[in-house]
Amino acid sequence: MNFTFEKQTIECIKKLVAENTTVAITTHYNSDGDAIGSSTALAEVLRQMGKTVKILLPNDYPQFFKWMHGVDDILTLDRHPKPIRKYINEMDLLICLDINDLSRTEDLQPLFEQAGKKSIVVDHHINLQINADAAVSFPEASSTCELLYHVLVACGYEKYINKHVAESLYTGIMTDTGRLDYSSNYSEVYNVMGKLVGMGVNKMFIHDKINNVYSYDRFRLQSKIMKDNFVYLPEYHAGYMMITNQDKKDFHFQLGDSEGFVNMPLCMKDLKFVALFTEYEKGPVKVSLRSKGKFPASSFATEFFNGGGHFNAAGGKHFGTLTEAIEVFKNGLEKYKDKLEK
Ligand code: 5GP
Ligand code: MN
Repeated sequence: MNFTFEKQTIECIKKLVAENTTVAITTHYNSDGDAIGSSTALAEVLRQMGKTVKILLPNDYPQFFKWMHGVDDILTLDRHPKPIRKYINEMDLLICLDINDLSRTEDLQPLFEQAGKKSIVVDHHINLQINADAAVSFPEASSTCELLYHVLVACGYEKYINKHVAESLYTGIMTDTGRLDYSSNYSEVYNVMGKLVGMGVNKMFIHDKINNVYSYDRFRLQSKIMKDNFVYLPEYHAGYMMITNQDKKDFHFQLGDSEGFVNMPLCMKDLKFVALFTEYEKGPVKVSLRSKGKFPASSFATEFFNGGGHFNAAGGKHFGTLTEAIEVFKNGLEKYKDKLEK
């Protein structure tokens, strides 16, 4: 993997950073480890450079990321609508991380668009749709955190990568690769992780803080979903599962409780493609898709669920009922049957 960037893009990023002082960082709805990791890492780098920085999110993020350095400077639109609007007026630079489309920031999108400020994107999703002043779009990268590391080095900001930054970057690489299960079959990602550990990152501490944090309810919810809510469709080498509003009530569902569930059926030898449907009281059904090998989860998400993502890990939404979402999925399987049979 060759993490070299266009000289012009790097110069443009450096100029935008040098010329602006009030910076907003944003990332996607339902932020994950890569989103929070890259945002807090960059915020810490910019703060050391003397910038005023806030991380603006559309909604809250899981409790198990709240140990990370810099999360105190996160404002979420659902909880802090007024300060966010004020900050968007005051900011002079917007940096979008781990998103290829501004719609991934949900209700923040119109506020950013109306503000019309200078912007930078650093992202690893397929098909960049943001018209920024400088953009690094690198779908081959394991994670935005790994990509951000290379961008920081290319910009000459390596001296700002302290232990806090290293911890945040490590978290995003670890979570987005499923603890190095996928998207990590090249040497650079290990070189970067090695450097981060060399800076004092305690790998065991981070894994413990993120992975060993189940409540009893979450543990039982996982068992229930795998046992009762998973449907195997052997004729398609596929399966799907769902989390209903009733399940959420029964197990006192907290944000992040279903993290990782969609990956679990992938351990079945004959399964190539799996979906998780999550119902919401308000709003569309959230769809998470995972595939193995050559089956394109991203195209499936785009074609049937208004979404996208990576080749083997994608997501989207269904604007209707859970039952309808499952019908759409099954019809999609029939259409893609040839690709699933091989
Ligand atoms: P997850 O299933 O973990 O929510 O998301 C898996 C991948 O799909 C992530 O890379 C995420 O960015 C992408 N993704 C999830 N939901 C959506 C969506 O609604 N739209 C798009 N374009 N991508 C999504
Ligand atoms: Mn990511």
